[in-house]
Amino acid sequence: MSKLQSGNALIFRVAIAVPIYRLFDYLAPDNIELAKIKPGIRLEVPFGKAKKIGFLVECVQHSDIDIGKLKRVERILDETPLLSAKDLALLHWASGYYHYPLGEVFSAAFPVALRQGKSVVIQTEKHYALTELGRAVDTEQIKRSPKQKSVLEKFQAHSNPLSEAELSAWNQNWRTSVKQLLDKQLLQLAAAGVAGKNVESIIKSDALHCNPQQQAAIDAVCESLGQFGVFLLEGVTGSGKTEVYMQIIRAVLERGQQVLVLLPEITLTPQLEDRFRQRFNVSIAISHSKLTDRQRACSWLTMQRGECSMLLGTRSALFTPLKNPGLIILDEEHDASFKQQEGFRFSARDVAVVRAKLLNIPVLLGSATPALESLQNVENKRYRLLHLPERAGIATAPVLQLLDIRNKRMLEGLSEALVAEMRKTLDKNEQVLLFLNRRGFAPTLICHGCGWVARCQRCDANLVIHYEVGALRCHHCGQEQRLIKQCPACKTGELTPLGLGTERVEKVLAELFPDKTIVRLDRDSTQRKGSLENYLQRINQGEVDIILGTQMLAKGHHFPNVTLVAILDVDSGLFSIDFHAPEKLAQMIVQVSGRAGRAEKPGRVIMQTRQPEHPLLTTLIAQGYSSFAKTALAERKEASLPPFSYQALLRVQATDAEMPKLFLHAVVELAQEHGKGRTLILGPVAAPMARRAGLYRYQLLFQSSNRPELHALLDVLMPKIEKLKQAKKVRWSLDVDPVDLY
Ligand code: ADP
Ligand code: ZN
Ligand code: ZN
Repeated sequence: MSKLQSGNALIFRVAIAVPIYRLFDYLAPDNIELAKIKPGIRLEVPFGKAKKIGFLVECVQHSDIDIGKLKRVERILDETPLLSAKDLALLHWASGYYHYPLGEVFSAAFPVALRQGKSVVIQTEKHYALTELGRAVDTEQIKRSPKQKSVLEKFQAHSNPLSEAELSAWNQNWRTSVKQLLDKQLLQLAAAGVAGKNVESIIKSDALHCNPQQQAAIDAVCESLGQFGVFLLEGVTGSGKTEVYMQIIRAVLERGQQVLVLLPEITLTPQLEDRFRQRFNVSIAISHSKLTDRQRACSWLTMQRGECSMLLGTRSALFTPLKNPGLIILDEEHDASFKQQEGFRFSARDVAVVRAKLLNIPVLLGSATPALESLQNVENKRYRLLHLPERAGIATAPVLQLLDIRNKRMLEGLSEALVAEMRKTLDKNEQVLLFLNRRGFAPTLICHGCGWVARCQRCDANLVIHYEVGALRCHHCGQEQRLIKQCPACKTGELTPLGLGTERVEKVLAELFPDKTIVRLDRDSTQRKGSLENYLQRINQGEVDIILGTQMLAKGHHFPNVTLVAILDVDSGLFSIDFHAPEKLAQMIVQVSGRAGRAEKPGRVIMQTRQPEHPLLTTLIAQGYSSFAKTALAERKEASLPPFSYQALLRVQATDAEMPKLFLHAVVELAQEHGKGRTLILGPVAAPMARRAGLYRYQLLFQSSNRPELHALLDVLMPKIEKLKQAKKVRWSLDVDPVDLY
């Protein structure tokens, strides 16, 4: 930072979260000690008529704007920056790579409470423990309060005090019972048992004895601690990846370092959290979107200060500062939810790799079905492959088979052959899992008389029938109307539901298996807080016979008694126009299959199809995911598609039907003026869903086999695009490395 010369004004260049590709200049506050001012501190600045929180990027002595017109910084919020120099460098990199304004990128790295400039007091968690009386008492004595009984049993089963977070992870509704047990003097407040410093106390329960492949994976990463390296842990579902994570984490904790674990879904946090808490005696912070702003800010700050050893979180937790960084783990690295789909469209996987490089620590990517990009990075020797080819313990791999349903009688999507297999499984008291990736009753309501179809008035999409709530709903814009009985076009025709949704299958299952317990898991049935946990608990306690659900089922859950998995409509994934679709379908099939036979009983997977000769399906079944991936990569190479080329998608929407196209034509013109080099510019074309939520949508695809060239072009274009006269009349966004083209 330059030294202030007398007579010169000192100017703060500030990043502010507004969608504009530049920084903002302010006069430094009076009476500051320049030596104390470091990039990254939060500032309060006047902005238009309001005040905003900004982040100091640098101090300079010159501004392009007349000094007399500059406003002054009103307040300095931080004495020292909350982010390290390396993390600041990461944000600068991400802003450049994703061509997204620096202020917005900064803002995304901070939890809401901190980016609003609030000061956050970290609340230390309360811990509870049994009293002498509580230890001795027979829980049968309080069986008339079953909730208290179960809380007390939880404590008795544990030798250590339990924290609020541990209790919440176990059961959301623990507070009242704990209070009553405190009143009865069966429980007491305990001194916080925070992260033990000595090595013995890190481990609560013993590690499993690993098989040689697991051991090799653990050794490879452990040897690399303290230096950068990317490891791809490819392990079939149930191969013991989590055990590998835990043993590596142990080594990191023993070095006194912190671990950041990223997961695709919030629903997976309690399960993994539970396993980690059973193993480790250290405090574990959690961060995902269902927590309050204050809770997230607390997690963020405890990691930043080094008061907590481990953070489990979703995509947005990636930027959490770490006082003593040791390792980043991304579980289910192939999952599309690691790519943010609006605003700052970063890929948590790719940014995690860059972050690990800056921090000089290893990053471990785990999956049963790695992304094609990651496999290609292994091929290029940028990632190192660690392979777990077999299931750990006694579980064996499930057997996949196709069920040809051409010309077969179907009952609401279920073939007779499948129903027979289900019966056989249920008769053995084993569980069946049915997968259908479409919620609602049916995706289409059509008039049998005149062919009228219920359409969304704001989108190019059909309205989905939701019988349970008596509504027609658009799954794209959320619009809803009452379910109608009469055709609005011909007034006489009979309205019929067309196609299959989970509600419809649930109904027929109830008729076919009246004495069986059926649970439907989709976004509608699990909307209430805690209901998913509740269902999962019932499933695992064996109270459920048939589990029916959407992609929610495909992820991470462990159902030991499921021995038959059926994918009802595998064909719907075969004919998408997006080149990513085959990869996603193969991953989904393998992930859903992974739910079967995870314990001692072998599992089977049946896929209903009218395309039994489709090469994707036959390759996957006969040769497995790796072979599928090889073929798919060869096809991508042939077609010069990613990862053999690099893409950026410019999406535009507007209320006016013509404006998006005009805007994109102007962009193409700009690109040509400035020399687009070898970069292909494809479009403008209408988006696959050309109208959504009342807006007309167009897109333009940039593609190049040379990444620096592509980015150099985007660097030139972005500031100019912003100034196009059409830009004011449209909404546009750039998606670098898009994972879907919709
Ligand atoms: P993944 O994360 O790859 O799906 P998990 O780590 O959940 O696999 O392991 C699946 C099951 O196998 C778990 O019940 C786990 O306890 C068990 N397991 C893992 N490693 C071993 C091992 N080396 N020996 C015996 N059982 C193991
Ligand atoms: Zn009609
Ligand atoms: Zn709609």
